[in-house]
Amino acid sequence: MPKSQPAKVRTRFAPSPTGFLHVGSVRAALFPWLVARQNNGRFVLRIEDTDQTREVSGATAIIRQTLEWLGIDWDEGPEKGGDFGPYVQSQRAKAGIYLNWAQKLIDKGLAYADVRTPKELEALREDAKQSQRPFLARNYRPQQPTDWRPGMPLRFRCTPKAYSWHDLIMGDLLAGEAAVDDFILLKSDGMPTYNFAHIVDDYEMRISHVVRGSEYVSSMPKYLALYEALAIAPPLFAHAPHVMDADGKKKLSKRDGAKSVLDYKSQGFLPEAMLNFLASLGWNDGSEQEIFSAQELINKFKLERVQKSGARFDENRLVWLNGQWIRRIGPDELYQKSGPFWPAEADRANEAYKKQVLNLVGDRLKTLADIPMMTRYFFSEPAPDLSLIKNHRQLKELTNHQLAGLLESAKSALDTSNFTADDLRSRLTGLLGNTGQKPAVLLGLIRIAVTWAPFSPELAATLSLLGKPAVIKRLDGAISLFRQSP
Ligand code: GLU
Repeated sequence: MPKSQPAKVRTRFAPSPTGFLHVGSVRAALFPWLVARQNNGRFVLRIEDTDQTREVSGATAIIRQTLEWLGIDWDEGPEKGGDFGPYVQSQRAKAGIYLNWAQKLIDKGLAYADVRTPKELEALREDAKQSQRPFLARNYRPQQPTDWRPGMPLRFRCTPKAYSWHDLIMGDLLAGEAAVDDFILLKSDGMPTYNFAHIVDDYEMRISHVVRGSEYVSSMPKYLALYEALAIAPPLFAHAPHVMDADGKKKLSKRDGAKSVLDYKSQGFLPEAMLNFLASLGWNDGSEQEIFSAQELINKFKLERVQKSGARFDENRLVWLNGQWIRRIGPDELYQKSGPFWPAEADRANEAYKKQVLNLVGDRLKTLADIPMMTRYFFSEPAPDLSLIKNHRQLKELTNHQLAGLLESAKSALDTSNFTADDLRSRLTGLLGNTGQKPAVLLGLIRIAVTWAPFSPELAATLSLLGKPAVIKRLDGAISLFRQSP
């Protein structure tokens, strides 16, 4: 007997175009993407825009840009096309897809017109409350339902029963028949509800694994009842726990100030770091490893290892990961990505010089947005900031006369150097010997006088890159500044 082909792994990300994607919402794309990529499967992007009152214009483009920035690529989707399109639900509604499926239910007597007004439904809810019963629409089915016509809400007629099912993350789950109820399939505007549309689409698009947020777990019994009514096999399910806010108390949400993932891009975060961070929200591979490239995630990710409880959003960890990735991606790529972050002063500098600057400061960058603060003095003469002396534990004890004297001895020691970093290093060591000063005092002073910046890379390397004329000029400037008011 011919062996049947294993079903192809197909997963999807199905965002609603209601605004930007925050960290929690984009993680809902990462996990199914990893599942598709590690199985040589297909990853589908589907836009769920049936609630047109919540739609925000431009949101689909932002969703696309966010995924592209992170390198989460899709094989089928709006514009890209594919065998199971269209991939936008409003277009599928126009094509009559949901209506066809709804008709099958109507024909089987498994859906009915529900023309009751919101007010009437509210009264029924109140009735349930009065009799201290949970409201279930199936207890209030219209006695003589009107024949359904387009423009009327259509409600699913469920068969209440208990369900048990397996979730690849949550494990074995079960729910009693109280969790199964009649729900709206088509709204009066002709659009399907999410509850109906996603089931039709996942089936038509041959989705093998539905990987999504845990907010949908409680509706699973209803969905399972609908799969049965439609006589279609459900896919596999994996519900990932929420990403929680920094306090770990609430689900991360836009309402409470969660930022767009693209804001992190403009704040100098690398996509590699963001992807690594997203994956670590609720998942680890069981080892101590913390840095994962996209390819390593594809190799190592396992739904079964996603934790069941919520993962806390810790921005400090993202900053740390970003620093790790800045040092990992290599100088050429770092330079390429640094483009928009250079200070205006660097406009006229050439590429080779900027690359050297970047190599030098790279070790200390937390984000690319640190570049201006860390590099400005390499491109233009810095303005003196005497607070750096006043707040320096040792330098603040010295008089201006003493400071000028120290800088003069530094100037004569450096004046005859060839300005290679090695030569400068030995000059500075010699200078420490001759003056008997501590490195924190003397090297700290030279550093400040030449950069007027709170931090800078290793002194000899910094001086070497600045070059002799600039260094001597800046030492002269600082000397006359201190001489002005001894
Ligand atoms: N449109 C739904 C949302 O944005 C998709 C949920 C799902 O993945 O099934 O939450």
